[in-house]
Amino acid sequence: MLIASQFRPQSTFRSFPALLLSLCALALLFTATQAASAQAAPASDQLLIYSIDVEGGQATLLVSPSGASLLVDSGWPGNNGRDAARIQAAMKDAGIKRIDHLLTTHYHRDHVGGLPQLISKTPVGEFLDHGLNREDSSVTRQDFAAYLKAIQGKRRRIIHPGDSISIPGIATIVLAADGKHIATVPGIQPVPNAWCAAEHPWPDDPTENARSVGILVTFGKFRFLDLGDLTGAKELALSCPNNPIGTVDLYLVTHHGMNLSNSRAIVDAIHPRVAIMNNGTHKAGSPEAWQTVHDSTGLEDLWQLHTAEGSDDAHNSPEPLIANPKGTAADGAYFKVVASSSGAFSVTNTRTGQTKEYTRK
Ligand SMILES: [Zn+2]
Repeated sequence: MLIASQFRPQSTFRSFPALLLSLCALALLFTATQAASAQAAPASDQLLIYSIDVEGGQATLLVSPSGASLLVDSGWPGNNGRDAARIQAAMKDAGIKRIDHLLTTHYHRDHVGGLPQLISKTPVGEFLDHGLNREDSSVTRQDFAAYLKAIQGKRRRIIHPGDSISIPGIATIVLAADGKHIATVPGIQPVPNAWCAAEHPWPDDPTENARSVGILVTFGKFRFLDLGDLTGAKELALSCPNNPIGTVDLYLVTHHGMNLSNSRAIVDAIHPRVAIMNNGTHKAGSPEAWQTVHDSTGLEDLWQLHTAEGSDDAHNSPEPLIANPKGTAADGAYFKVVASSSGAFSVTNTRTGQTKEYTRK
């Protein structure tokens, strides 16, 4: 402990040269502090979240007020680098040239496949993942091998439930990884989850989906949840009998809105204000999951990256809430979320250019 009297000067003026030196040192210290704070100071009170259209995969870019960035997944391979280009377009919009943290939720192709193309053009500070692939399928073994090859010699960190991802200006905690999950979130009192009792059992899932990394991002009063492709049995393990997550403002609909995920017990417990579904035209966006999210208590809007063309109109949101609706030329339109630490946020549909505000609650 520092004791103030230890720093009390012995005499006010020892000598003029000493005083001059002290003043110079103080001036240098002040300048250095100013420079450091100018670098670290938030550019604004804004957290940016981009839900990038990778046609039914995931690529979600977060840029904190300090300018530090986290990319969650890299979309698909192939397509002449389409997904890398779309991620770079979002980076350009955010005014960043590098990704500080690239988190791969799991080793399925729609999440990790685009990584080699992306990192051939984009500097990355560190790669985060849940560790070994344990899915017994040749395609996933191939994709895991391609991932390891792409990041060879680069900085990699295996993350576990309870770990933090260090991003100045926001708090990011790992809720689930490699099939395990956190029991409590710091600062949140777990509460009994009333929706568990009515929940049907969900089958165990031996695939990589169940090992997805799930994160909770907190920026002041604003909270964002992204559970990757976590499937039903693991959702229930995480949220029953007690919900450790609390409620969220923005929910990236798990598993692109597939009905292997999005159990009522977790969706109702987290009580999202707004949900974004990163479905493709014929990928996920299933009627059951859409209905569960749509009907969840307190939901104000369900945005979709695409019309789910396998569903009917009753299981798709109105066109203004869809980035790439059926029958339009739009492709690659995305959602940009701008959140304030007050809890207020907005969602912009880049196809229409229209922004919807969600005032602080
Ligand atoms: Zn997926």
